[in-house]
Amino acid sequence: MLGPAILAASRSDKMRRIVSAAPVTKPVVNRFIPGETVDQVIPIVEDLTAKGLEVTLDVVGEDITTVEQSHAARDAYLQLIEQLAHLGLGETAEMSVKLSMFGQALEGGHELALANVRPVVEAAAAIGTTVTLDAEDHTTLDSMFAIHEELRRDFPQTGCVIQAYLFRTEADARRLAAAGSRVRIVKGAYKEPAEVAYQDKAEIDKAYVRILKILMEGEGYPMIGSHDPRLIAIGQELARQAGRKLDEYEFQMLYGIRSEEHLRLAAEGHRMRVYTAYGTDWYGYFMRRLAEKPANLLFFLRSMITK
Ligand code: FAD
Repeated sequence: MLGPAILAASRSDKMRRIVSAAPVTKPVVNRFIPGETVDQVIPIVEDLTAKGLEVTLDVVGEDITTVEQSHAARDAYLQLIEQLAHLGLGETAEMSVKLSMFGQALEGGHELALANVRPVVEAAAAIGTTVTLDAEDHTTLDSMFAIHEELRRDFPQTGCVIQAYLFRTEADARRLAAAGSRVRIVKGAYKEPAEVAYQDKAEIDKAYVRILKILMEGEGYPMIGSHDPRLIAIGQELARQAGRKLDEYEFQMLYGIRSEEHLRLAAEGHRMRVYTAYGTDWYGYFMRRLAEKPANLLFFLRSMITK
């Protein structure tokens, strides 16, 4: 029952100030967000790729409030892409972006987010990699899917994320499971009302399997975003049943979570991509990781008390 309370706190400015200022926060944050700058994250990318893993990089940030911040987000990604090109990492590292960081919620935000993300997608394509649009709360998704469709006209490899907890997602999966599409399926990390989303974990898992089956039987490229051992095993089985080869789908997990499983899947010959977030605006991302596993919160609180 802690999860929803933490997710509510993830959108509170007051909690943001308290958590960000606590001296013990940083070491706990570092487990999930291993750097604040491009220079700090590049060695991590090199280390992961040396281990046979692939990477998707997320410059943390969301829900920005000014146009200037939306331009700064675009520029941060462009700087990252420049570094990846310089180091020849364009083949193994792709990018994940949140459109709310590109101005989606501001006035005229749909157009602003599209205008900001397009040069990032263009620059990524120029170095042989691509961008995936993360899924945020359900009110943002029609705009996200429209931007995805628009970008795919020129950059068909642009990916997007769908969330198993939403009732709408089976229909979205059917629409997206077409040739050339790249779709990451996840359970969903936001606090969503019962009118739009399953609330029960078992219901979400069942929906995840139904949706993954649609993706596997379709003609696109499914990206299985989960740390759940049961879903990983089911994913392997569904891929086998659909006659997919090992390079016709991939697994994705978050940096700092079940790292030994990343290596196990890669050693089995699977494509395994590690979602690696970095940057200074880590609060929302960090709080969602706490909400996913109450033990993380207990660890965090214990370190506050024992300091
Ligand atoms: P769970 O049942 O939550 O977890 C299974 C097991 O994994 C747990 O028992 C635990 O051992 C481990 N685990 C899971 N989470 C944690 C954690 N935080 N700390 C420690 N251990 C943990 N959500 C979105 O809404 N939009 C997105 O765009 C999005 N992108 C994602 C990209 C990737 C690559 C991944 C892996 C997740 C993404 N998510 C996104 C988050 C996702 O929706 C889930 O909240 C998250 O993956 C937890 O669900 P799970 O499938 O791992 O299953």
